[in-house]
Amino acid sequence: MQTKDVKIDGFILPGHVSVIIGTKAYLPLFEKYKIPCVVAGFEPSDILQPISILVEQIESSAPELINGYPRAVTFDGNKKAQKIMEDVFETVDVAWRGLGVIPKSGLRIRKKFSAFDAEKMIEFSAPESKDPRGCACGEILTGLKIPPECPLYKKVCTPMDPVGPCMVSSEGTCAAYYRYHNS
Ligand code: SF4
Repeated sequence: MQTKDVKIDGFILPGHVSVIIGTKAYLPLFEKYKIPCVVAGFEPSDILQPISILVEQIESSAPELINGYPRAVTFDGNKKAQKIMEDVFETVDVAWRGLGVIPKSGLRIRKKFSAFDAEKMIEFSAPESKDPRGCACGEILTGLKIPPECPLYKKVCTPMDPVGPCMVSSEGTCAAYYRYHNS
């Protein structure tokens, strides 16, 4: 997927992940695309304030990378946890449903820890992941569509019987729309 095919006005960055990786991890993304980025937390005020900061940035066309969850997140993150992650895992190219393969976007257990690698311990071959026919998750994840624009939304795709990944998790865009949006 090319960046010209992406229409994202701003990123709400995940607080739990940011506790570990720190806001500095987002600098390359921010410096390359100059899109408003705000780290958010999980209490209502930890979400509403970052959304308010994002809207201000978008309206004033003044993108910044802001830590909106400073009581838990630092610039450098948790260096001890980062060191453990680095020791145990290596980055690999991974295919994401709706987005295709993104270079170095996944983690794999390093060889020296292969005794703990479930993929090697359990004989199992997962079928290749395919995007369900008619599902617009890729376009939704990249800001090109909203869930009601998917022809399957609410008709055949619901949280009780999801067709695509955006409806499976309660955090998914389609599931959130289904629950909270009047459409
Ligand atoms: S409504 Fe269902 S099928 Fe449509 S984009 Fe969302 S998850 Fe995919």
